[in-house]
Parts: sequence; structure tokens; C-alpha cells
Amino acid sequence: MVVGPESGEANLAAAKKVRPEWVLQVTGRISPRPEGTVNAKLPTGGIELACEQLVVFSEAETPVFQPGAVELPGEEVRLAHRWLDLRRQAMQDNLMLRHRMVKLMRDHFDEAGFIEVETPMLGRSTPEGARDFLVPSRLDHGSFFALPQSPQLYKQLLMMAGFDRYVQVAKCFRDEDLRADRQPEFTQLDVEMSFVEADDVMGVIDSLVQKTAREVLGLEIPLPLPRLSWDEAMERFGHDAPDQRFGLEITDCTDIAADSEFRVFRGAVEAGGRVRGIRVAEAASRFSRKDLDTLTQMAVDAGAKGLVWLKVEEGSSLAGPVAKNLTGGIDARLIERLGGTAGDLLLLVADSFEVSCKALHTLRKHLGATLELYDPKTLHCSWVVDFPMFAHDAETGGWAAMHHPFTAPRPQDIPLLESDPAACRAVAYDLVINGSEAGGGTIRIHDSGVQQKVFELIGLSPEVAREQFGFLLDALASGAPPHGGIALGIDRWVMLFARLDNIRDVIAFPKTQRASDLLTGAPGEVDAKQLEELGIRVVTPPAAVAPGGTAPSP
Ligand code: ASP
Repeated sequence: MVVGPESGEANLAAAKKVRPEWVLQVTGRISPRPEGTVNAKLPTGGIELACEQLVVFSEAETPVFQPGAVELPGEEVRLAHRWLDLRRQAMQDNLMLRHRMVKLMRDHFDEAGFIEVETPMLGRSTPEGARDFLVPSRLDHGSFFALPQSPQLYKQLLMMAGFDRYVQVAKCFRDEDLRADRQPEFTQLDVEMSFVEADDVMGVIDSLVQKTAREVLGLEIPLPLPRLSWDEAMERFGHDAPDQRFGLEITDCTDIAADSEFRVFRGAVEAGGRVRGIRVAEAASRFSRKDLDTLTQMAVDAGAKGLVWLKVEEGSSLAGPVAKNLTGGIDARLIERLGGTAGDLLLLVADSFEVSCKALHTLRKHLGATLELYDPKTLHCSWVVDFPMFAHDAETGGWAAMHHPFTAPRPQDIPLLESDPAACRAVAYDLVINGSEAGGGTIRIHDSGVQQKVFELIGLSPEVAREQFGFLLDALASGAPPHGGIALGIDRWVMLFARLDNIRDVIAFPKTQRASDLLTGAPGEVDAKQLEELGIRVVTPPAAVAPGGTAPSP
């Protein structure tokens, strides 16, 4: 190992603590300390190491890449040689920031009277909406532990046990398809409180957001953080974690479309859908036909049948492939509704509400970034509240819990559990930072009858509910305080506060998007004896082998 001018500051600082017997070679000049500054107590107290010197501690091969190089190799190479990558100053800074932020969180909760309690890694599956990572039991063949998707039920049981303020820096595991900012194992700041309402939980987090922004970025965030309901977020931005650093808000034009002769508009309205759009100011001349085809393709990829684009011209008229269909004053009404002036570009989607949300959200995000409609240094934090309790489960055709099945309905909505579950709203709140979900939580059901009703609605028979969650129902039946909590995604917080867009840059040893660890080669095969002890035989149907991959041995 060599420490020299290429090394990070931390390495240089460490080199100054060097003991002579560790040093194989020092190149360059060693300066004797000036008289009067010699420290006789230290082995190196008589010499001074300077930045321009190389101190050789051990023989080493030329590394695959130089951490200080201007041109770094691709991420795969860096992940496979993570120890070199972590020597880079940027990575040292990221992990230092992570340490500071986690400490700040722990201190914040400690000062507010929370205690940290560890919960098990080997447990029973908790439904948080993702697939579990399973661990086979050696002593009980055919039985499996699930790694926690979150410590959800344990933290609720802690409330029932009388710990009123719980916090944990908790590792969680979710086996889901990975997007750029997700990891199969991640760290949450997990929180639970008794005798609280949603405002109390959000209040504790509000002040944490303010403190973190102040200490890390020197930004002053006014409190309370703004809140908008889920309905409003979907109407105005098409997404439940809206990026509010810029406008491009969605406007509904369904009533105008219903009056038009244009087949695409009429068809969508008659099918119970909506016609909604956004106005991109002064963008008409900036978008070529090819750019508009790209936007159309993005809308199609998001599920829409197409995209109606219109350029606003002088005299309240519209240009574009379908402009001629917007007769009878429809064009002027659309321009007025969307607030268009000459030179603006209007983008409209005629589809179901869900599809129009998806397509317009995709376009907003893309346009906000490419047209540089926001300052990347700003931090926009807000809450989205009052989520629906249930969402349609495409697989079963029934209801699924939108957050998790322990979420309390709004008290006024409890009768809707019987009459109209779709209209039932939850006491749920998500923290959104710069268009990313940075945390989410709910007030919990603390009444065993309501809990059983919710289990029933999501298709769990009383027998299955008892089999899976008997311990929770028994604990609720023995008296539970009103309680609620939240979990913050620590990896994502650090990424956002470090103003990065790759979550792997704030995790020391992350997995790739295909959930593998390029450094150690995990996941890997295990030997036949281990499988035998676990009573497991691997069956790999040929189709399951990835192209170019090899089938694991049986
Ligand atoms: N368990 C939830 C999650 O991990 C958070 C919560 O409800 O507190 O998303």
C-alpha cells in the first residue's frame, strides 16, 4: 500500500500516525521536526511526513484503476473493486455525510425521549407489498424465516408493551424489481409512537428535516412542511410523490373534450376516462417534430394510447396534427383552460385517470429536468396525506392494502369499510423530497375488530388471518394504545442531501440493479452438503436460465 499525493485526506492523516516498523520505504525527503517540536513520546515524533512524499507500507500490484484518476472506469468495474472505489475522496465524503446524518437522526430522537430497540432479522413475513427474502430452517425442513421487509409488527408490539417512543436504524429487505434508487437491502429510520395522531408524527419529522437541511446544506426550511392530499397530488401532478420544484401542473379538460367532435377525446370521455394536459410555456419553437415524437413515445411507454400535442399560435388558434379536429371553438376553450399564449406547447392525454396520471407525470419529470425548470440545489419537502386505504389488486381482482394492512382508516371513513372500500381514506402520510418518497407512515389500527375487518377485505379468511397474525390480534385484544409511526429511507435521505442521483454512491457495499454483489459474487452457489442439511433440492427449469448464464448445479 502506498500513501501519497493521490490519497484522500483521511489516508494522509492516518499516515502521520505511522510506526517506523510498518514502513517499507519512504520516498522523497523526510523532514526532521524543528527543534522544540520533537515529541519523544511518539515513535514518529522526530519526523514530519509531507504530502509530496510516498510512504510504502506493503508490496502492491498496480491497482485496476487509480482512485485519483480523472477518468474513472465504469460503475461495474468500480463495484467489483469497491475497496479502491471507496478510497476516492467523493466516496469518503459520502460515507462521512451518511455517518453525520445518522448521528443527527439518532440524537434528534434521543433528545425527544425515544429509545432504540433492536428487532429480529429472522422472523415471519410482514406484508409490505414486496416479495420476501426467505431463509430456510435447518431444524424444521420446509419452514422458512423471512428477512424483515420492515420491523412493522414488532414496533407495534413494543407500543402494546408500553414503550411509548421507539426508534431503530433498521436493515430491511425487499425482493422487488429494482429501480435506480432502490436496493434489495436498505436501511430505514424506523419510528413508532403511542398516544399520537398523524400531526404528532409529522411534527417530529418536520423538525428533523429542518435540522438536517440546516446542518448539512445550510438551508432554512420553513415549518410546518406543506401538505397536500393524495387526491390533489394525483390531480395536479399525476403522482403521489410529486416533484414540486417546478410548475407544469396538470389541468383537467374533460368537460371541453366531451363537447368536441374529435374521436379520440370523445372516445376517452365515453369510456369514463379523462382528458388532461399540461402547458409548456414558450416551448413551441424549441421542440422539433423528432422531439415531439420522443415525447409521444414516452407517453405510449407509460401506457397511453398516444399524445395530443398542439402549438399555440397568434389569434388563439392551434397548430398540430389534430388541430383541425378541434372545431366549434374547442381550440379556443382549450387554450383558455390551459392558460396558453402564442408560442406555448400544449400536451394532452385522453385516457383512463390512472393512465393519464402516469403519462403526464412521466412527461412532467422529463420536461422539468431537460428544460432545467428548477435549481438542482433547492430542496422541496412536503407531505402527501389521506391516501386511499385500498387499491385494486390486478392479480386477485380484489382489494390490496395501499400501504400495509395495519393502517387505520380515517375515523369518519370506518363505515365505508362496509359500504364503499374504494372511497375509504387512510390516516397515512408520505414525506416527499424533490419528487422522491423519502419516508412514509400511518396511524395504526388499535382495535382488533377493525383489524379483522381489514384482513377480511384484503381477502384473508379469519382462519388465515389467525394463522398469520394471531399474535397481533391477541395483542390488540389485550388492550392497545392508539399509536402510529413512520419509516424514513436513510439511503435515499443521504442521496438527496448529498445531491446525488445514484443510491449506490451512498452505500459502502451496494448491490447492482440485478441484485448482485459484484465484489463478493453474492448470491452464489452453496455446496451440496449445505443444501442437504436444509432439505433443499434446486430445480432449475431450462427457461429460468438467463441468456448467457449458466444453470446452478443441482
Ligand atoms: N413499515 C412501513 C414501511 O416500511 C413504515 C411505517 O408504516 O411506519 O414502509
